[in-house]
Amino acid sequence: MPPRLARGASVFGVGSARIPDERDMSRRRRIYEGKAKILFEGPEPGTIVQYFKDDATAFNNQKRGTITGKGVLNNRISEYIMTKLGEIGVPTHFVRRLNMREQLIKQVEIIPLEVVVRNVVAGSLAQRLGLEEGTALPRSIIEFYYKNDKLGDPMVSEEHITAFGWASTQDLDDIMALALRINDFMVGLFLGVGIRLIDFKIEFGRLYDDQDMMRIVLADEISPDSCRLWDLKTNEKMDKDRFRRDLGGVEEAYQEVARRLGILPEANVQDIKGGTSMH
Ligand code: C5P
Repeated sequence: MPPRLARGASVFGVGSARIPDERDMSRRRRIYEGKAKILFEGPEPGTIVQYFKDDATAFNNQKRGTITGKGVLNNRISEYIMTKLGEIGVPTHFVRRLNMREQLIKQVEIIPLEVVVRNVVAGSLAQRLGLEEGTALPRSIIEFYYKNDKLGDPMVSEEHITAFGWASTQDLDDIMALALRINDFMVGLFLGVGIRLIDFKIEFGRLYDDQDMMRIVLADEISPDSCRLWDLKTNEKMDKDRFRRDLGGVEEAYQEVARRLGILPEANVQDIKGGTSMH
């Protein structure tokens, strides 16, 4: 006889998969609410609880919608990738997953940059330079965008970044070295499960230790919301472009990414629709 699950419990990620309920939400102090996530004060100083919503936005908030179960999957996928990156020595803000929609992270000072790494032409690069989507780039390209919704996250150069003091030259050296390591690792990780990593966006933060020493760490999330992932055989899109471009099958695509990474056992497909939605 399988053990009975307590109310709110789940077989998804056995052991720590309690579904957060409304009491958890109101007990915690909300620090910030973004488009896809909410940050709550963590249980200890220097920690934060990151809650993943099902809300999806695109084109700088002009398109809005809900992708059922997205928060649960992104929480799990981001945990998986950040843990793997930690294992190869990439410092990250990730501490541990708390339940289906929440993870504990270290509090960092976010650097106001979206760092995009590209391996294949797609999206805004295709548009801006009139290039054909799907063309492999001669080498990986790093781009920087200034995180500012009002301005629509404009692209900026290293000159802008250092002149305006968003990051120092040393910070940028660290960021670029980390971004390339992350890219190399993720290209291999996804290739191993039949997925082509086209491009992705990451964010970094400054983490201070007890001696006030600062180091740059990977922050935010890595998920199909922030990556372009194409099936290796069919070139089918398995990421947020399905939502952006009204291609349908959005939930299924996110599930398939998790399934291929081996973190969504078949029995749990129904389960991911659970978890408190805050809307
Ligand atoms: O739109 P663009 O081609 O510049 O996007 C590059 C990559 O960055 C894509 O993987 C996209 O999902 C991601 N991105 C993001 N958040 C943004 C802009 C882009 O995650 N605000």
